Amino acid sequence: MLTIAERWAQVRAEIAHAARDAGRSEDDVMLLAVSKRHPAESIRQAYEAGARHFGENYLQEALEKQAQLTDLPVHWHFIGPLQSNKTREVAEHFEWVHSVDRFKLARRLSEQRPEHLAPLNICLQVNVSGESSKSGVSPTEVESLAEAVMELPHIRLRGLMCIPAPETDVERQRRPFEVLAELLRTLRHQHRQAELDTLSMGMSGDLPAAIAAGSTLVRVGTGIFGPRPS
Ligand SMILES: *Cc1c(COP(=O)(O)O)cnc(C)c1O
Repeated sequence: MLTIAERWAQVRAEIAHAARDAGRSEDDVMLLAVSKRHPAESIRQAYEAGARHFGENYLQEALEKQAQLTDLPVHWHFIGPLQSNKTREVAEHFEWVHSVDRFKLARRLSEQRPEHLAPLNICLQVNVSGESSKSGVSPTEVESLAEAVMELPHIRLRGLMCIPAPETDVERQRRPFEVLAELLRTLRHQHRQAELDTLSMGMSGDLPAAIAAGSTLVRVGTGIFGPRPS
């Protein structure tokens, strides 16, 4: 069994390799450690290995772990499905939300973001694989949603996120990532003043394809922590 520190180093090396192959700098790809269903102690070990950004999917579980880790200056990202009755706690306890796919969620997050905190960074989750996933705004609606979200005062729209249908072939993995990258290019072209610098795409099984397509933030769970306890 590898330790979390050894796995962390392996994932960093995989990112460096994929970035080099794509003619990119590994410094342009943030590694988000997805710690869902792993205990606070594992987060502590990943922190000691160098992880600073952690992603959680389930609000209650995340709040419990955050309470055990108040001594660690980490950046918390909410990446799971979000319901409107959960937005207040997400707005209060996270720096980033990757899974915004409708205006109502963004508006509530903005209204509920505490005044003493910096604006909440958000990515719009896009349904790039059509029918296979229920969450995410459709590619044709990204532009109008983004424009509405950019008007909100306590939100900073940072970019787009996707979770494509699983594929093993690297060329097939790349297509939905190219679609997301193109959508972000279009948005950036139309809104040059906005801070649209984030393409949140790529997980343990498709990280090289995502980096080849321009990912700036990969969300890795299994690769860092091993299989999730069931
Ligand atoms: C669980 C999860 C991940 C990490 O998945 P792994 O395959 O374990 O790397 C990334 N993104 C989201 C949205 C997830 O829910």
